[in-house]
Amino acid sequence: MVDESNLPDMSLERAGRVAIVGSANVDLVAQAVRLPRIGETVSGHGYFEAAGGKGLNQAVAAARAGAHVVMVACVGSDHAGAMLREVMQSEAIDMTAVRTTAAPTGRALIGVQDDGGNLIIVVPGANADVSMRDIVAHAPLIASASVVLAQLETPIASTAAAFEMARAIGAMTVLNPAPAQHIETDMLALVDVLIPNEHEAELLGGAERLAALVPHLIVTLGDQGADWHYGGVVRRIPAFRVEAIDTVAAGDAFCGALSAALAAGDDMADALRTASAAGALATTRVGAVPSIPTADEIAALISAQA
Ligand code: ADP
Repeated sequence: MVDESNLPDMSLERAGRVAIVGSANVDLVAQAVRLPRIGETVSGHGYFEAAGGKGLNQAVAAARAGAHVVMVACVGSDHAGAMLREVMQSEAIDMTAVRTTAAPTGRALIGVQDDGGNLIIVVPGANADVSMRDIVAHAPLIASASVVLAQLETPIASTAAAFEMARAIGAMTVLNPAPAQHIETDMLALVDVLIPNEHEAELLGGAERLAALVPHLIVTLGDQGADWHYGGVVRRIPAFRVEAIDTVAAGDAFCGALSAALAAGDDMADALRTASAAGALATTRVGAVPSIPTADEIAALISAQA
């Protein structure tokens, strides 16, 4: 348990600050006309490496949307770890709580065929080392945020500890339950805003069940927008109209931008508009981190389609 009595009261200074407990990966992406079958080798025609992982994508999204972001994460002492630290530094993400461990940096091996179909193997590596120790060691830093955001690519017990601490100091907890997996009801009880996509909502027992367990449930629906369940009412948040070419990281852009807006003090309706614009813009560019929009781009899309 985290001893909350040691935490300073910083409710005013917390505005605009988001703490993210989550993964940081290097994506190794190979492109081929078609993906190989088991036992087969095909020749590829493209390759690149990029920063990724849901935690880092959402951290970049919150930072570009204007938040001061603190990241709680683990990377390895390898080239990939150094690359991720450079990315965080260039996005002005606070790395005080990013720890280097003996495990290799998390990696996603991604094969993409020309029609867009893909296969992904995620090897968590150092992401599995995010522990209670990290949460306890950086309790004052995490408690300096008004929103604590997490996903399911790092150990859930550590996220639960961070959320308990957030609750104790009146910060808001936001969980993007991705990749889809079962979550105990005890954990959901620590969540203020739950943001699954349709598939994740289904796996967690459906929107009706979830809406009864968390104050705000936001089910994202791709180009159909999102459904906001609050106080027994469901409101459809329409999607912005854009020319989508690659939907990778749309959900991450949405979660990061929503958290930044909530941390800045926006009400949920305004924060959802900001998040929808960020999600839409992320589909207009290729890749994860490179596709994530800035606050100016978000504002321009909102005013263009007001
Ligand atoms: P995920 O990537 O987690 O599956 P979604 O695909 O539901 O998440 O996308 C998250 C949000 O991004 C949506 O709720 C929507 O606001 C926005 N979005 C996604 N795809 C599009 C699209 N093709 N056009 C406009 N907005 C989109």
